[in-house]
Amino acid sequence: MESIVSLCRRRGFIFQSSEIYSGINGFFDYGPMGVELRRNIKDAWWKDFVQRRDDIVGLDSSIIHHPKTWEASGHVDNFTDPLVDCKVSKQRYRADQLFFAPVVVDGRTAGYVSALESDNVEAELREAAEKLKRKKAIQGELGPVRPREFTEATPEEIRLIPSPATGEPGSLTPPRSFNMMFETQAGALRDGSGLVYLRPETAQGIFINFKNVVDSGRSKIPFGIAQIGKAFRNEINPRNFIFRSREFEQMEIEYFISPDEDWQSRHREWIDTGNSWLESIGIPASALSEYTHPKEKLSHYSKGTVDIMYAFPFGVQELWGFAARGDFDLMQHQKFSGKSMEIFDEASKKKFIPHVIEPSVGVDRILLAVLCSAYAEEEVGGEKRTILKFSPRVAPIKVAVFPLVKNKPELVRLAEELYRKLQRHYNVFFDTSGAVGRRYRRMDEAGTPYCVTFDFDSLEDGSFTLRERDTMEQKRMNEEDLFRLLDETVY
Ligand code: ATP
Repeated sequence: MESIVSLCRRRGFIFQSSEIYSGINGFFDYGPMGVELRRNIKDAWWKDFVQRRDDIVGLDSSIIHHPKTWEASGHVDNFTDPLVDCKVSKQRYRADQLFFAPVVVDGRTAGYVSALESDNVEAELREAAEKLKRKKAIQGELGPVRPREFTEATPEEIRLIPSPATGEPGSLTPPRSFNMMFETQAGALRDGSGLVYLRPETAQGIFINFKNVVDSGRSKIPFGIAQIGKAFRNEINPRNFIFRSREFEQMEIEYFISPDEDWQSRHREWIDTGNSWLESIGIPASALSEYTHPKEKLSHYSKGTVDIMYAFPFGVQELWGFAARGDFDLMQHQKFSGKSMEIFDEASKKKFIPHVIEPSVGVDRILLAVLCSAYAEEEVGGEKRTILKFSPRVAPIKVAVFPLVKNKPELVRLAEELYRKLQRHYNVFFDTSGAVGRRYRRMDEAGTPYCVTFDFDSLEDGSFTLRERDTMEQKRMNEEDLFRLLDETVY
């Protein structure tokens, strides 16, 4: 992970936001390379889920909605995380990400240990338990160390669990609900009457526009509405680089179906579509898995939720959520607004409020998964080669064009001519400086799939050498071949 973060900074993909002021936790800025990668991911999603489908239309709703939206959706009451404070260090934790275990020696409790959520919480707690036993010079057999969530701790236990910040007990507070919506004021009055929220998800913008879209188009059930846009969550513990941040972007679809339809098979169809789409942008199936939320842990609105998980360097984590939300949201908005959300279905000649399947994913999380899947280090001729093996679909730069030498004007002109032609369609790069091998290496690190070099033979017939990033194979081709190759791989 550290190598990826440092490459991102070095090559202008991602910077900590407000770095010159020591940064602001949970916010990130995308540099010249990052912004291209991000746009390509969003474009690929939009092309595949909106432009190339007949049953999905797009939407771009405002970030701030009428505050009643969030009462209806349940966010005002329920969009909370359990917050724990350490009164000494002033650190804050999410109770469901904080674990503890009693240290039992010869059947007697000798104290408590704590650890933050990680891939090996159990091992960390065990190590801490052994340390405690040594520190207190307790003889005897250490019993099994079983991690428990801080949310399950009794008031008595809370007093005895050490804070992860100080290692000492007595400073942690019981968990309390913390609403993650960012608040602000609309209008000049500061008396609270203008209280509004920055949206914590893009989905509600779709639901409150449901009738507008239906009435202004020809939407026939089943159909979907898609939206890409910023969302804001005041996460207690933003972490793992851009995986969990406070400002991020979502790509969401609400896919409306008849209440009579078998939602399970439609749900499955969407999960399969999600999996193959991820492969099309370079995330291998081997890094993906699925997690079905147990029935008793489902959100109040959900009939079933499955997450596509990705094996990040810091653990297997949620990438893309697929929730079957029934008619919960439209019903709620009907109730709170007093406006009917029913539609008339021509096919069945019935009036109903549709049910919905929601594929919801974060752009930044996909971008991180794309980066992690692409990052590779190789030994070539005794030297380390760092490569980002981006799929050509999402690569920030598609082609780099080089004249072999810069002091041959005819060669530079030929190369520049192709560069200008490519530039009309793709993001491309032109470089004349340094040895060609060094130029290749720089492009490997930026994830550019193709490099084109004009050499002295090019002066004869205009052909050039195309060097492929992953195989490093070189072949001779001409302009027509190159455009065909790009048409096939950048779609
Ligand atoms: P988590 O349990 O990780 O907080 P969630 O289940 O609340 O996430 P959803 O509300 O289902 O997340 O959000 C849908 C998608 O939005 C997630 O699958 C993820 O890709 C993305 N997402 C959610 N929260 C964040 C965040 N803080 N930073 C970046 N992406 C996020």
